[in-house]
Amino acid sequence: MLTYLIILLDDTSASYCHYEVNRKKRRLISLEYLKKGIMFAMKENLNIQFVYPDYELPAEYLDAIDSIDHSDIKPTANGDSAEVVVVSGWDDEAPEGSTCIIHSSFEELTEHVAIVNDWLRRMIRLNVVLTDIEQFKDSDIDRYKKTLDALADGVIEEYRQGRSVQLNLLTDRLMLTEMNNCGSGDSNVTLAPNGKFYLCPAFYYEDEKQSVGDLKIGLNVKNPQLLRLDHAPICRQCDAYQCRRCIWMNLRLTMDANTPSHQQCVVAHLERNASRELQMKLEKAGIRLTGSQPIEEMTELEPFNIVNRWK
Ligand code: SF4
Repeated sequence: MLTYLIILLDDTSASYCHYEVNRKKRRLISLEYLKKGIMFAMKENLNIQFVYPDYELPAEYLDAIDSIDHSDIKPTANGDSAEVVVVSGWDDEAPEGSTCIIHSSFEELTEHVAIVNDWLRRMIRLNVVLTDIEQFKDSDIDRYKKTLDALADGVIEEYRQGRSVQLNLLTDRLMLTEMNNCGSGDSNVTLAPNGKFYLCPAFYYEDEKQSVGDLKIGLNVKNPQLLRLDHAPICRQCDAYQCRRCIWMNLRLTMDANTPSHQQCVVAHLERNASRELQMKLEKAGIRLTGSQPIEEMTELEPFNIVNRWK
């Protein structure tokens, strides 16, 4: 069910997910489109998430935004009072007491474990968005496992100090009992500065022609069931509940929005298994998380290899 409308306020709005913002030139959404987008969300009973560029918006835009309940995703340069702050890089001054997003390659993450552990002491939550999942190879498995282990040590230390830190790669799975995927085109759609709808911002930045309706004709997602979990025969059996199940990445790598790539599954399973290890270590340390259910042992990292078990 459609629940969220994401409004990109400018072509240079911060990326909050796997896609890259490949535009440097500002294109602020028109005030008319902004107001119509807000009206669309009101009529459809959708929650709005505004995604900001790194400059201050004109006062009339801020007034329109404040006319409706919403949440803000902002880059650090513009991050006052945002629900989610997108950190621009590892050298950035990470805001205290916030929910933050950092984009990172696997290699950078490995090199910055100490910084993640430091940030966790000060943030409410850190979401690490991996930027090179498409290039992930089986020869990278061991290195990523070790990185997750090192990150888990930092999480355990914070729990020992009585702080319930959240790091998406490790702690989300601990609290989930069902899939919590991105839901693009199903639970959320995006309105871009050109007044058109997209399954998510990634489709807009990749090619503006991939729109799924506009503010005049309304939303027009063709065969929306083909984006949903209940039509994804592999994912619906899976228990890597924290997986983003990115339909944009699926399309790029498997030519089908609902069929996952090997890379995405392996990475998600490494995180699932690292969450299990973390859960066991926390229990050993006498720390039991309310609502956390035991995660079964699983050695297979590729769901396609265990398809026979589901028949
Ligand atoms: S790990 Fe693979 S099968 Fe499981 S939800 Fe993610 S993409 Fe789907």
